[in-house]
Amino acid sequence: MKAMVLNAPKTPLVWTELADREPGPGQIRVKVLACGVCRTDLHVFDGELPGPKSPIIPGHEIVGRIDALGAGVTELKLGERVGIPWLGHTCGVCSYCLGHRENLCDAPLFTGYTRDGGFATATVADARFAFPLGESGDDVSLAPLLCAGLIGWRSLKLAGEGKRIGLYGFGAAGHIVAQVAKWQGREVFAFTRPGDTGTQDFARSLGVTWAGGSDEAPPKLLDAAIIYATVGALVPAALRAVRKGGRVVCAGIHMSDIPSFPYQILWEERSLVSVANLTREDGLEFLGQAPKMGLKVKTTLYPLQKANEALSDLRAGRFDGAAVLVP
Ligand SMILES: [Zn+2]
Ligand SMILES: [Zn+2]
Repeated sequence: MKAMVLNAPKTPLVWTELADREPGPGQIRVKVLACGVCRTDLHVFDGELPGPKSPIIPGHEIVGRIDALGAGVTELKLGERVGIPWLGHTCGVCSYCLGHRENLCDAPLFTGYTRDGGFATATVADARFAFPLGESGDDVSLAPLLCAGLIGWRSLKLAGEGKRIGLYGFGAAGHIVAQVAKWQGREVFAFTRPGDTGTQDFARSLGVTWAGGSDEAPPKLLDAAIIYATVGALVPAALRAVRKGGRVVCAGIHMSDIPSFPYQILWEERSLVSVANLTREDGLEFLGQAPKMGLKVKTTLYPLQKANEALSDLRAGRFDGAAVLVP
């Protein structure tokens, strides 16, 4: 197999030939068909997350086809198309696992962070954490659903049932969640980097009610806001944009420090929460309904060997939607 390997933080990924891996008990090996590039891959690249596997093959939005089954795998078949998400393994015995909150497991493994991921021609995964994808939908459009879509879904659930939803950051997750929220009959308010009129136009093309800069106030107070951008200063901005009793959800794994803010903007029962990871239940729920939503996932393709270019284009905001690597 070949892979784009991160040998040390902040050094370019290196195209590397590796010995083929055999799936252990309970594992599958998949031939990678497409792998999305997520903002979290940049945090792994920058060494901003504690305790990574090193060297590591990043990538946790994997669409692949099973080409080897480990002992004891009976739920999945050879040749089946599956999706492999960020949550790669949980212990099954901690209080979080037993309490239906496996996203908070005390001893988890995460794909492309603490176990090797999908910036490769092949990968090995825990069969219990792979989602059957069926045969409808193309590999490239499905890949971003595996994180941007899934974490997006979880963040939207945490935002509550309110009708007016603000999205701070309109990249891979934002553009998918906007469409999901619209499908649910909600109004979406998209906030981009100030002055990024290109992305604001893109958001309008997906039918959002309003699009503007993150330094602007929305035309109406919001029921909830979800922050996908990694900028801590957006937290007080979002709190100011939600109504009494409104909720602000921080959906990223990493954020710059949140500046201090007056208690008054949190008061009146506004709440501020974060989303961490996903549960398999979230995945099944979202992937089961996604085909009905008519999602238009905007993708920019890169050959696997151009992973470094995809990461730097993501950092610079050079494309709308999601980047996807294809071996
Ligand atoms: Zn656990
Ligand atoms: Zn991700």
